[in-house]
Amino acid sequence: MNRRRMVHAIQAASEVGNYAEVAVLPDETDPQIYLSRNWLPQPFHLICEKDTVLSQLSGTARVELRNSSVNSFRMDIGDHIYIPAGTPHRLAPISESVTIRYLPLRGGLQAAAWFCAACGNEVRRYEWEHDNNTAALEFYWLACARFNAGTDSRTCGTCSTIHPKVNLATLGMPSTV
Ligand SMILES: [Zn+2]
Repeated sequence: MNRRRMVHAIQAASEVGNYAEVAVLPDETDPQIYLSRNWLPQPFHLICEKDTVLSQLSGTARVELRNSSVNSFRMDIGDHIYIPAGTPHRLAPISESVTIRYLPLRGGLQAAAWFCAACGNEVRRYEWEHDNNTAALEFYWLACARFNAGTDSRTCGTCSTIHPKVNLATLGMPSTV
């Protein structure tokens, strides 16, 4: 990516919000690049069936991992983090961050997962098929809405801890909905 394109990406990021994951390359480009501007912690862990790479364009963030030998990474400008297929990961911005994600065009299954704050076990997981023509926020929104729907979906099956609802206002609604 040359300098001029990078500047364009940061300008484009000023128009997107938390975890928008907006595709920024022409339709059939593989891998595709998705852009987000995040200032709030991601309200779930994302799981991708395919390997994915995160790259930090501005700001600083922590990436929290599950089922991994490393629990978290700090991302400063220019850092890339390779996330192996199937590894739950969650972004927690330390300062407002522009982050891009490299993902194969046919990304396969993705899931939003929640882990118990008390015992660490997986509380809930909702899956969908990655679709390059559908805004990621639509899937994220639906997963969070299902998580919020009742106390059963937010209750840990192991230790019975009930987790709070996701504040859906933190996930800006996609403009297409
Ligand atoms: Zn638990």
